[in-house]
Order: sequence, then C-alpha cells, then structure tokens
Amino acid sequence: LNRRLAEFGTTIFAEMSALAAATGSINLGQGFPDTDGPEEIREAAVRALRDGRGNQYPPGPGVPELRTAIAAHQLRRYGLSYDPDTEVLVTAGATEAIAAALLALVEPGDEVVALEPYYDSYAASIAMAGGRRVPVTLRPHEGSFRLDLDELRAAVTDRTRLLLVNTPHNPTGTVLTRAELAAIAELAVERDLLVVTDEVYEHLVFDDAEHVPLATFPGMRERTVSIGSAGKTYSFTGWKVGWVTAAPELVGAVRSAKQFLTYVASGPFQYAVAEALALPDSYYEEFRRGMLARREILAEGLTAAGFGVFRPAGTYFITTDIRPLGEKDGFAFCRALPERAGVVAIPNAVFYDDREAGAPFVRFAFCKGEKVLREAARRLRAM
Ligand code: PMP
Ligand code: GLN
Repeated sequence: LNRRLAEFGTTIFAEMSALAAATGSINLGQGFPDTDGPEEIREAAVRALRDGRGNQYPPGPGVPELRTAIAAHQLRRYGLSYDPDTEVLVTAGATEAIAAALLALVEPGDEVVALEPYYDSYAASIAMAGGRRVPVTLRPHEGSFRLDLDELRAAVTDRTRLLLVNTPHNPTGTVLTRAELAAIAELAVERDLLVVTDEVYEHLVFDDAEHVPLATFPGMRERTVSIGSAGKTYSFTGWKVGWVTAAPELVGAVRSAKQFLTYVASGPFQYAVAEALALPDSYYEEFRRGMLARREILAEGLTAAGFGVFRPAGTYFITTDIRPLGEKDGFAFCRALPERAGVVAIPNAVFYDDREAGAPFVRFAFCKGEKVLREAARRLRAM
C-alpha cells in the first residue's frame, strides 16, 4: 500500500458492520436503512432489467432519462436550472462523485479545506488526489456542532484550491444555516475558490431547519460542484446511484476522472432512480416524518441511558457525548459496546484529524425500524 493510503486502513463502516454480524448486535453503526425504498421503484428496476434497459454499458454521463430527472428535481426543489446534457453527471454513488471531483480539480500540493469531523471518504479522496486537507472543526455549542466562520476564513491560504462542504452534515447532524452558507459563499467568491458540496441528506431536515443548496447563493453556481445520491433519499444504498450538478467545465472535469474510475455503473437502477426523482412531494414528506419519529425514539432512549445527546437538525445520525457515562474514549467504548449491550455504534474520532477532539463522541444511526430502535434503547439503558 502506498504512502498516500497507508494511514487509512479499513473503513470503520466495514469493521463495525462485521463486528455487528459476528456478535449478533443491533447495528446502529453504518448508515443504511433496514427497510428498502418504495415498492414501485423496486418494480421500476425489475422492469428495466426485464426490458433490457441498462443491462449493457449505459452512456458515460448517465442515461438521458435520469439526467433529465435530476435536472427537473433541482429546478423544482431549488429553482436551480441545469442542462441535462452538459451540466449533469451520473456517478457510482456520491462516493465516486466526491473522489472524481477531487481527482479532477485538485493539483498535488493544493489545500482542501473541509469541515471536521468529515465523512471518511473525504480524507482518503483528498489523499488520492495528492491534496493536503485542512480541517476546520465544528465545535459543540448549545446542543449542536457549529462552524466558526473566523476559523474558516483563517484556514484559507494562497494554496487553497477548494472548500469541501457537507450539509446536512454527517456525523454531527448539523444543518448549516442560510447565514452560514452565505458567509461560505462570500468567502469562496472573494478568494476565488471552487466548492464541492455533499448534499446527500438534502431531504432529511427536521424542525425549523432548512436545506439551502450552496449553488443557490450569488456567484456560486459557476464555482460549485453539487453532489446528491439516491442511496439516502430513496433508501437504496446498494444501488450506488449518485450525481453531480455543476457548470459545464466543472462537470466535464469530473467526468474526465470518472470515466477512468468506473466509466459507468448501475445501468438498470439508473432508470428506476429517474422514476424515484419524480415521486410527488408527499413521498419526501412521509420519509422525513418517519425519520423524525425515529430520531425521537432514539434520542429519548439515549438520553435515558445517560448519554449526552446532540439532537440532529438533519441526516439520520445522532452524535452523542459519552463523558456523562464516565467514559472518554469513543474507540474503546464502541469496541466494547457489542459485548456490553449488543449494540454497534461508530466512534466519531475516525472522522477527525484531531482524534483528541473527536474522542468523546459516538454516532448512532436511527434509519432503523421503531421496534429495533426501542430494543437498542432498552439494551443501552440496561448496560
Ligand atoms: N456523503 C456522505 C455525507 C455520506 O454519509 C455518504 C454515505 N451514504 C456518502 C457521501 C456516500 O454516498 P453513496 O452511498 O451514494 O456513495
Ligand atoms: N454513509 C454511511 C455512513 O456514514 C455509510 C457509507 C459506507 O459504508 N461507506 O454510515
């Protein structure tokens, strides 16, 4: 293994899901739902397979039906207009979109400013691109993890090539506010930076929180690569259908990298996701409402079990503080948890360069059935 990748080892999600399987624990670690997405969308995939749509290499940028549906979704939800032919690219999940964007846009030695804690593929993708990651740490403040805009400004140097943003944010559940996003946008324009924004949890926002795409801010459309995924929104994480929307030169750049990573993926599923994107607003509302109920069950359970709970404004993850339990090392805690309670969780430290800063935090996923969540809560209380 080369020096660029040596520090990363095995992704925590594989390690923890294997531990859950080996111990028969409830898996609240890796973020995938225990109920598949809509029947009619599964049927759409079966139809595509049966009718021979997508069984051979689909077009490099993605099938036209899906690109058109992605563009229509961006327009309908956010008033963002993208040309399906030149400004939309289908990828093998958001994971490939992130990797391809960084490989395409970062020169060796460029600095990439990312919000810490960050989704684990960010650090690896920056490293594979030869970039240097510059974390700006979200810090706990009155029940949520917040961005310090002065710290963000200070992190930008003459070597900064791009900002890598994620909202709603995994693992903290923070949804950046309109004012925070406006400040990020102003900074990007002022310092002439590219922005890659991972918005895979765009449809999972709760309470008064609102998801505002960075691309909607003044001066941003032309410098922003926006990333979405069917995995999270339609509960098909195994299909690996993601996408990029951006200006033609940026999409072209990402495509240059993407064509040599997978070239294409998920043929028949692309047709099914095109149908999913056209689901009525009631689908999204119901999906959100269901997750909100689950958030409440798990948040109550974790609170009753003695965890410090950061109630997320978005995503399907709850970050907790284990110090009220007399613990301080999330790694040790998560490795022992299957034995102690029959539950698996993720130590947030894996999402930090500054492992100290992340040590006391542990993430639980609530994209599981209500009974499963109640049982997990019962076990954690009994621990
Ligand atoms: N970004 C974030 C913030 C995620 O949590 C995930 C995990 N779903 C991904 C990207 C990867 O998405 P996909 O499964 O579509 O590759
Ligand atoms: N995005 C999911 C999470 O954060 C898992 C993705 C993966 O397994 N790589 O849990």
